[in-house]
Amino acid sequence: MDLSSRNTFGMKVHCRLFVEITEESDLPELDFDSLPQPVFVMGGGSNLLFTGDFPGTVLHVAIDSFPAADGSRKLRLGAGVVFDDFCAWASAEDLWGPENLSLIPGEVGASAVQNIGAYGVEAKDIIETVHAWDRQERRFVDIPAADCGYGYRTSRFKTEWKGRFIITAVTFRLSRTPRPKLDYGGVRKALEARLAAFGTEISDDSLTPRAIRGTIIGIRRQKLPDPDEIGSAGSFFKNPVISKEHFEKIVATARQDNGPGYEVPHYEVGDEIKVPAAWMIEQCGFKGERLGGAQVYPQQPLVLVNATGRAVPEDVLALRDRIIRKIERKYGITLHCEVETV
Ligand SMILES: Cc1cc2nc3c(=O)[nH]c(=O)nc-3n(C[C@H](O)[C@H](O)[C@H](O)COP(=O)(O)OP(=O)(O)OC[C@H]3O[C@@H](n4cnc5c(N)ncnc54)[C@H](O)[C@@H]3O)c2cc1C
Repeated sequence: MDLSSRNTFGMKVHCRLFVEITEESDLPELDFDSLPQPVFVMGGGSNLLFTGDFPGTVLHVAIDSFPAADGSRKLRLGAGVVFDDFCAWASAEDLWGPENLSLIPGEVGASAVQNIGAYGVEAKDIIETVHAWDRQERRFVDIPAADCGYGYRTSRFKTEWKGRFIITAVTFRLSRTPRPKLDYGGVRKALEARLAAFGTEISDDSLTPRAIRGTIIGIRRQKLPDPDEIGSAGSFFKNPVISKEHFEKIVATARQDNGPGYEVPHYEVGDEIKVPAAWMIEQCGFKGERLGGAQVYPQQPLVLVNATGRAVPEDVLALRDRIIRKIERKYGITLHCEVETV
């Protein structure tokens, strides 16, 4: 089966068998051992880089149940629901929770694997329970978010539980009480500008999930490639978190390069410092860099794109390695990939 249209990087790869399930009850029936191995569970394919043809089975959970709101603020969505459809629905219903996560590609099931995050909000902030088929115990389980080991773009589903659970649904907790998160990545400024265009300013009346969703969509459209137009898997690297001593060394290097008084962008995370990988990539001169069909996206250097539409996995991997090596040499930091290679 051709997977070209099922991975947002647009890699032209095949898998031996593609299985799609549309009902929870399909899972106990499925004889995994009889399928071509290995079995890989896939969502919308927006965080993956296939490095070649996949020799086994790709399983997609296409359960797209989206119940009508019952006023309980809790919503159980099928794993195959498009995550942004959920964001759009919540905003339209005036429910707070996922608005800052608007326009992140992919499906509900993967959101609970990845702990997707953007603009100061992570999926873990609104996930109540993850419902899954446990391949090991051969039974359905309900896993409370507190047991999922959520961290920055990670969870137990990506580490010690890798391959064990097939997520069939996720229950989210929403709120009628305003919970705006504006102090990250220029959201407040962009919202103010958006409201000013309508002759208003931030107030209890103007601050709605819908207004924030619209603002986030505007910011993302400026910075990120639209997967329908340019292939990518979003941020290719994670932002590294380093010690304060290490950060001081980076500041010294940056001031040698850019002059005294230069400010290195960073966020404090407890006792440590998060440095934007995009900044390092840009400082190393990679903005817009091409290798074969792959490119460092000029508007957001954290994203590697399939610039020609004909990039092969080797182009992306070679560009990735070139970036990692140079940043290691210059800053003593090894970047880790957010995108999963399959
Ligand atoms: C343009 C662009 C922008 C992006 N922006 C962001 C962003 O702002 N923030 C962010 O966090 N991410 C971002 N991403 C990355 C991506 O959208 C997320 O990681 C998303 O959650 C992936 O969802 P998916 O359904 O495509 O999962 P896939 O890429 O298909 O799979 C991701 C992982 O989840 C597992 N998985 C998927 N479904 C299931 C299931 N039902 N059961 C068990 N395991 C499963 C897969 O095995 C894999 O390990 C972006 C991607 C693109 C292309």
